[in-house]
Amino acid sequence: MTRITIAKGDGIGPEIMEATLSILEAAGAQLAYDEIEIGEKVYLAGNTAGISPEAWDTIRRNKVFLKAPITTPQGGGYKSLNVSTRKFLGLYANIRPCFSLHPYVATKHPKMDLVIIRENEEDLYAGIEHQQTDEVTQCLKLISRPGCEKIVRYAFEYAKLYGRKKVTCFTKDNIMKQTDGLFREVFNEIAAEYPEIANDHWIIDIGAAKLANAPQDFEVIVTLNLYGDIISDIAAEIAGSVGLAGSANIGEECAMFEAIHGSAPMITGQGIANPSGLLLGAVQMLSHVGQTSIAEKIQNAWLKTIEDGVHTFDIYKEGVSTRRVNTQEFTAAVIANLGQLPKNFPAVSYQQDARITLPKYQRKPQKTKTLQGVDLFVHWSGTDVNDLAKKLKSLPADAYEMILITNRGIKVYPDGFPETFCTDHWRCRFMAKSPELATKTALIALLTAAEAQGIDVVKTENLYAFDGKAAYSLGQGQ
Ligand code: NAD
Repeated sequence: MTRITIAKGDGIGPEIMEATLSILEAAGAQLAYDEIEIGEKVYLAGNTAGISPEAWDTIRRNKVFLKAPITTPQGGGYKSLNVSTRKFLGLYANIRPCFSLHPYVATKHPKMDLVIIRENEEDLYAGIEHQQTDEVTQCLKLISRPGCEKIVRYAFEYAKLYGRKKVTCFTKDNIMKQTDGLFREVFNEIAAEYPEIANDHWIIDIGAAKLANAPQDFEVIVTLNLYGDIISDIAAEIAGSVGLAGSANIGEECAMFEAIHGSAPMITGQGIANPSGLLLGAVQMLSHVGQTSIAEKIQNAWLKTIEDGVHTFDIYKEGVSTRRVNTQEFTAAVIANLGQLPKNFPAVSYQQDARITLPKYQRKPQKTKTLQGVDLFVHWSGTDVNDLAKKLKSLPADAYEMILITNRGIKVYPDGFPETFCTDHWRCRFMAKSPELATKTALIALLTAAEAQGIDVVKTENLYAFDGKAAYSLGQGQ
């Protein structure tokens, strides 16, 4: 018997959770439940996290969490519970299988069968944002080597466990050479450890286009958080319906399972929601806790129900479907099919031990880090960049010399184009006049001098080389 935590959530959440639990029970899942309250009611009672400390304790004690969708109220500083759950519990891998159910569910892609493995903790979802000037805001994109290693290794281990032949990486490393560049570098390193699995890389924009047009060409896709978020909804939608996809969020200790869709307020209370997304999340959960034969039994009964043409409204199609059913009727049909195999779809069969355990991250030896300069980000409302350059050049700074100004990344000094549109946010690059002068003390002196001249420095970023290799972007056009 495995004790898990469940939350019925908001909107259609309670309806699809009830359906899912009755199928789990009928299939003989060995589960005991602790129910917690999360979501809208908790938010509106004044808890901006949407979850109480006691509920956290329950989740951490049981380690396995089956969660229905919740509604995050707009505005009011409410924190996304989905994002905080993933991050607090270290659920670094988000796994979303997306497969078509041709010819029973309408899709333009009859042969689609892929899994998206999305990094779940880093990237722009760190939510570290600032307004720096009247005109400019920023969001920090943080990508770590351990974060990349864990997710990429997970993807290859997943491919190995489930007999997938290829892992594809999506990044935008042609533009983001440091952050996405690190992800791709780690992908190349780890791919080399799995010679039996093919690998390739696509720039995310053309990769997403190809995914939308020819999803059958992909098997396992591993990517960064934001890209993964976007492409997994695209993939679920083109497979048939967002109402059909479940997802697993896996960490070293804990795991959370859910549907990929939201609380669907438009159809709440009508009893017509498709419970398949949460049910397939629960199937992933059963295989995670080692109840693989129950997982198989449920998924096969569900496949049989779909091929019997017993369909909820979101996938119902005249001429293909045989019965248009509500949530309860769909649930009853799946239960009636327990123990049967689909006739047309291949029956699923899960490995006995479907849990992927990765080796602990080994920190690499530290590289030699040398300070080479500093970027001062300046709030300045003037229009002629030469005026700003003159001010910065005349600072009494012995160690550093101003060599470049960019505005939103594009070089505007020296030799900028008058056509370039400029905001009030300027990145002013100072390089050390010689390596021995590059100290933090000299940097503080530079800042003090800038302050004395009334220059409004809103942020500084040190420029380092690691093992002699400059580890910062050049200005566009530099
Ligand atoms: P949504 O996924 O709730 O709905 C998108 C569309 O899909 C709607 O037309 C809806 O009716 C339909 N749909 C969704 N689930 C369905 C199902 N099971 N059966 C049939 N049709 C289904 O997305 P939204 O409208 O953008 O968001 C509604 C709320 O859900 C928001 O408050 C949002 O914050 C929240 N949300 C929560 C989660 C989560 O808890 N994991 C995820 C996404 C959105």
